[in-house]
Amino acid sequence: MQDYLAGLNERQKEAVLHINGPLMIIAGAGSGKTKVLTTRIAHLMAKGIDAFNILALTFTNKAAREMKERIERILGNNEARNLYIGTFHSVFARILRSEAHRLGYPNSFTIYDTDDAKSVVKTVLNEMQLDDKLYKPATVYNRISSAKNALVSPMEYATDYHIQQEDLRANRPAIAKVYDAYCKRCFKNGAMDFDDLLLKFYELLKTFPEVLSKYQHKFRYIMIDEYQDTNPAQYEIVKLLGAMHENVCVVGDDAQSIYSFRGATIQNILQFQKDYDDVKVVKLEQNYRSTQTIIHAANEVIRNNKAQIPKVLFTENASGEKIRIVRTMTDNDEGKFVADTIQEQKLRNHFSNKEFAILYRTNAQSRAFEEALRRMNIPYTMYGGVSFYQRKEIKDLVGYLRLIVNSRDEEALKRIINYPVRGIGKTTIDRVLLLANTHQITMWEVLEKADQLGFRAGTLSAIQDFVIMIKSFSSMLQKQNAYDVAFHVGKQTNLVKELFNDKSTEGLQRYENIQELLNSIKEWVESPDNEEGEVIDKTLGAYLQQITLLTDSDNKDPDADTVKLMTIHAAKGLEFACVFAAGLEEQLFPNAMAINTREELEEERRLFYVVVTRAKNKLWITYANTRYKFGSLVQNEPSRFIEELPKDHIDNTYAGGGTKMQSSFGFGSTGSVYERMNGGGWSSGKSALSAEKKYGPPPAKKTTPEYLGPKPEAKKVVEHTPSVDFQA
Ligand code: ATP
Ligand code: MG
Repeated sequence: MQDYLAGLNERQKEAVLHINGPLMIIAGAGSGKTKVLTTRIAHLMAKGIDAFNILALTFTNKAAREMKERIERILGNNEARNLYIGTFHSVFARILRSEAHRLGYPNSFTIYDTDDAKSVVKTVLNEMQLDDKLYKPATVYNRISSAKNALVSPMEYATDYHIQQEDLRANRPAIAKVYDAYCKRCFKNGAMDFDDLLLKFYELLKTFPEVLSKYQHKFRYIMIDEYQDTNPAQYEIVKLLGAMHENVCVVGDDAQSIYSFRGATIQNILQFQKDYDDVKVVKLEQNYRSTQTIIHAANEVIRNNKAQIPKVLFTENASGEKIRIVRTMTDNDEGKFVADTIQEQKLRNHFSNKEFAILYRTNAQSRAFEEALRRMNIPYTMYGGVSFYQRKEIKDLVGYLRLIVNSRDEEALKRIINYPVRGIGKTTIDRVLLLANTHQITMWEVLEKADQLGFRAGTLSAIQDFVIMIKSFSSMLQKQNAYDVAFHVGKQTNLVKELFNDKSTEGLQRYENIQELLNSIKEWVESPDNEEGEVIDKTLGAYLQQITLLTDSDNKDPDADTVKLMTIHAAKGLEFACVFAAGLEEQLFPNAMAINTREELEEERRLFYVVVTRAKNKLWITYANTRYKFGSLVQNEPSRFIEELPKDHIDNTYAGGGTKMQSSFGFGSTGSVYERMNGGGWSSGKSALSAEKKYGPPPAKKTTPEYLGPKPEAKKVVEHTPSVDFQA
């Protein structure tokens, strides 16, 4: 076992060694909060506390994974696999899988992602005959989501004076009714959206004292990182779970609270001390991450916020270089400057690609950087693009899988009922939907008894064939593992064949993505068991739930030697030797959407504090005079946050631009090293690892998807014929 206390400072040790009773660690960026939390878990386990009794909640699945690995290294064993550690959503989804029936959901309930949820909103709006220009599905969904995260029920929503006034002013008085109908619809579909994973878990604990007691006993120690970004639902859940032992440890920084738009509130920090009698509060003041220059600048900036808990942040690190403020002519010049600088720094200071991060306010800004990096042949990973699981072909196959696991899932049914085409057209689907609503049954039930409902003969037989097919798939669930079922479905539905026959580059890509999905299911099925005494859940249902909760970053290899591109929100908790904070322009950052009130502006400033404090050694802050926005060129002032930086800690440069520039390093081909989410291929870290599997000769196992065989060369696609009997 490592001497995990060595190297910690006194305050950090104090926090780690505090075992029983509520603990709050409130401290600035880079002061070792996450390190302390991780070490504290290791310490609890070293002191004999069973990993099964520890619940640790992190902001991303990736953070959870890293914590687990670190704890394993400290303890020198693999006990950490028994921890309940993950995001609020993933941990609660896991528990709901064995408890959801109490609330009337199937335990194999479907998790609706944001797209599914918006589609349900659309259906409801349609049925209520509300104008979706006025009631924009995205807006309505956001209102519903906010209400759920604030634990406001449809009933409370409808009767709350202020909410009603707000909706009236926006000319959308019917949202309360939509909210109610939406919830009923999701319930009928046997589905929970992301917010439900919190809300329904909360309801479960509130409604069933025996369930509450079970989990209170189980989770004797509870730990939460990034506590400043918890919302009321999360707060209430933690309060309930922690009430018996009061061993709750929260870790956070009010200056980094950046999710209030999603209902998070730093009130939770202030409230924590009032909720328990004897809260031990530890403040960490020494930053171990950044240079003195960076820390001084961060402190100066955040001072401008009125709302904050006073605290000190200093560092004993070197004073470091000045922060470079760089103006360019256009956004393309900004991209080029950043790529050039990365190249230069690599040559001059021997940094590797992975030591650089380009961080921006909005995802749309990534384009200029991607182009410039590609031109310079610098490999990069972009986070926050279209997730693998959002891709059409993936959603199609997954749609079948969802339906056979949960026949109530209307969104899945609508997606695949006529794909590939089988003669069940839109008119029929509308009719099925109408019948379902009239008879208060699910669409699936309508299909099952279609012979009694007066469909035309041709349509009826198409429907009946479909029902028989789905039922035959469902019957496999008991006997076959997730992979075998998925493989069979892909083949039997002709979905894979359809993609295979599409010989365009995109078609080939889609076909490969399906291969990748099947590979990943196989990998999952074959992965070693890491669960406690409970039966290892390798069913298709369990698989589907976990992929819905994967974010796009979960599929990427964090150790890949690539420059990282992501929004500042996504960079929370991370650190990089060299950071480019891009697009520091009025309207963009602070964002035009967030400068109407002091509260909004202060949140933007906290976001700026977050980006500045991601940097260990070097920080560039860039902005462009002009950039394209919605197709037209707009001119922008430099961000007010630049003004707030201490003058003697910055260096201003003009990086030129505006002329047609050619990279001195030439225009390389993009190669396959680029991990891109948009366009191109899906090449995740994971898929890169399984490249051999993907491209090599097919392994000889029985379950091997033979038709996946050697990957056809793009050029040769036309000649390539499937080696397996699709026709069979
Ligand atoms: P953030 O607010 O950004 O989430 P944090 O407070 O969680 O930051 P950590 O990420 O835990 O901070 O630590 C920041 C860096 O400082 C890490 O590289 C960590 O390993 C290092 N660090 C923390 N404490 C010490 C210490 N006592 N000695 C040396 N390095 C330390
Ligand atoms: Mg942290």
